Amino acid sequence: MSVVDDVKTVVSLVQKMDNAALYTQILELQTKVQGLYMENMDLRKALSEKEQRLKLEDDVYFEHGAYWRNSNNDGPYCVPCWDDKRKLMRLTPTSFGGVSCNICHYMCDE
Ligand SMILES: [Zn+2]
Repeated sequence: MSVVDDVKTVVSLVQKMDNAALYTQILELQTKVQGLYMENMDLRKALSEKEQRLKLEDDVYFEHGAYWRNSNNDGPYCVPCWDDKRKLMRLTPTSFGGVSCNICHYMCDE
């Protein structure tokens, strides 16, 4: 049972006490708890995304004019896309040799 559910239970118990001032106070408290709960969820999500981003940054390394991922030996990835926007864009083989990015058209021999 979450804190929001706990407060909901208390609100319904206070409602039965027939005390308007107490009921008003508990409703305000309920609103504040719900706000804190939502803020907590948003912060947890932001922290998780940040941790994923840091994990990815630790995993990426530069070699032979492109970026690669250490954990799965995957690559090559585009240098400008990673440097500018922190996006891992795969470099694909061109018809005239080398590899290029389909987004920014960065090329390298790989
Ligand atoms: Zn690119």
